[in-house]
Amino acid sequence: MTTRWRVAVVGGGIAGLAAAVRLRDRTPAGTEITVYEQSGALGGKLRTGELAGAAVEFGAELFLMRDPAGGESAAVALVRRLGLAGRIVHPTVGQAALAVDGGLRPIPGGTLVGVPGDLDKVATVARPDAAADRDEGRPLLGPTDDVSVGALVRSRFGDEVVDRLVDPMLGGVYAGRADDLSLATTMPALARAARVEHTLLGAVRAAQAATPRAPGEPVFGTLAGGLSTLVDAAATASGATIRRHAAVRELTPTGPGWRLTVGPTRDPEHVDVDAVVLAVPARPAARLLADVAPGAAAGIGRLDYASVALVTLALPEPALPELSGFLVPATEGLLIKASTFFTTKWGHLRRPDGLALVRASVGRYGDEAQLQRPDTDLAATVHRELSAVLGGPLPAPVDGHVQRWGGALPQYSPGHLDRVADAREVLRAAHPTLTVAGAGYDGVGIPVCVRSGETAAEEIITALEGSGR
Ligand SMILES: Cc1cc2nc3c(=O)[nH]c(=O)nc-3n(C[C@H](O)[C@H](O)[C@H](O)COP(=O)(O)OP(=O)(O)OC[C@H]3O[C@@H](n4cnc5c(N)ncnc54)[C@H](O)[C@@H]3O)c2cc1C
Repeated sequence: MTTRWRVAVVGGGIAGLAAAVRLRDRTPAGTEITVYEQSGALGGKLRTGELAGAAVEFGAELFLMRDPAGGESAAVALVRRLGLAGRIVHPTVGQAALAVDGGLRPIPGGTLVGVPGDLDKVATVARPDAAADRDEGRPLLGPTDDVSVGALVRSRFGDEVVDRLVDPMLGGVYAGRADDLSLATTMPALARAARVEHTLLGAVRAAQAATPRAPGEPVFGTLAGGLSTLVDAAATASGATIRRHAAVRELTPTGPGWRLTVGPTRDPEHVDVDAVVLAVPARPAARLLADVAPGAAAGIGRLDYASVALVTLALPEPALPELSGFLVPATEGLLIKASTFFTTKWGHLRRPDGLALVRASVGRYGDEAQLQRPDTDLAATVHRELSAVLGGPLPAPVDGHVQRWGGALPQYSPGHLDRVADAREVLRAAHPTLTVAGAGYDGVGIPVCVRSGETAAEEIITALEGSGR
């Protein structure tokens, strides 16, 4: 075995960077790791910017502290590995609200992404149809079944729970609709429980009991200074050569290894490597795999994406409720689908000058036309709608920022995980030194993307060791 493996990581988002760190940690000294990133910046959907002198997230904001299967999440483990654990901060205000019936109502506790484990607790927002959740003598789902979250919850608890609770909560994460999103991918713990339990109430309670949380244990964390510190630290720790503005346009098998075509068509660069971690979204992944593994490409390329825009406003001393923010059901007819009161939610962002940083997310799957509006229009609409939801005119912003994320949020339809498993199987059989990672596969959250990058790296290492190189 030579000790000079050359591994390319295509995509410099968190999945690609987690793969690069894992490769550095587990490959022989001297392994050449190169990260190819098509844009000018690493991090992908992790992007910390600056507004009114504060570090503000223009993309992902936080990560889950716990792995749904127990123990700390892969994001927390990576933060520790990178020596950043001292920077972890938690929300100081966790209570969020739903904007329903022209006002704000606290989001009821005791739910799994809005699916109640106690029907009485959600009565302030929605009236569940308890009679529909009958035990029919068999588990809710067969061993390999997947359904949309909306279909399952509508059939057991009625429409109101979906429209007023589950849909806005899932929409806050995916910008998509509960009726389209796969239960197994977006709520894996509930899907597992639904394969055993005979009622949805029983399944929610079983899923909650499977991962009990100590009282006061924080659910979410972020990093003081912003998530871009995680990106920078991962890039440094990986010891990888970082190539920015380096789009990989073609992958060609060269016997056991790969030739990458990098850069503009008129001036391409060809690079030979032993293995590739493909950590780009599903569409570019499918394009790169089309000739190499057409069967895998077809499965991967089916994934659709939603676009969103994040509008952040700096407001001088507004009267904000003591909430982390609010979610808006699609039925309310607002452009805003979610809002975060950054300076209330995060103690480390509070300011002595009373300036509030408020972010609103706009854009729902299937309603992309709304995002065609110019930045000034989006910002003005957000300001107007925030004032309406909060029940009074907000001061004029002193600063603002609009971040557009085109085609950024995967819309996992039922059966997604099976399609991914099949695609990976095809790829593994034909090309063991090429693995895929990132939000297009196992889930959208930062911890899942980190784990997927790390798993892809491990698979590459196993393949290279197995090949005797
Ligand atoms: C607005 C928004 C808010 C979010 N908030 C949260 C949150 O608070 N918490 C959470 O856990 N998750 C959140 N998410 C989800 C999470 O941030 C993403 O799922 C995750 O960061 C995706 O990481 P990734 O590495 O798979 O992909 P990406 O971040 O998309 O990275 C892929 C990279 O590949 C590059 N690339 C693409 N094609 C090529 C090519 N041919 N050659 C080279 N490079 C290429 C891209 O430029 C990109 O940098 C949010 C997502 C969005 C869009």
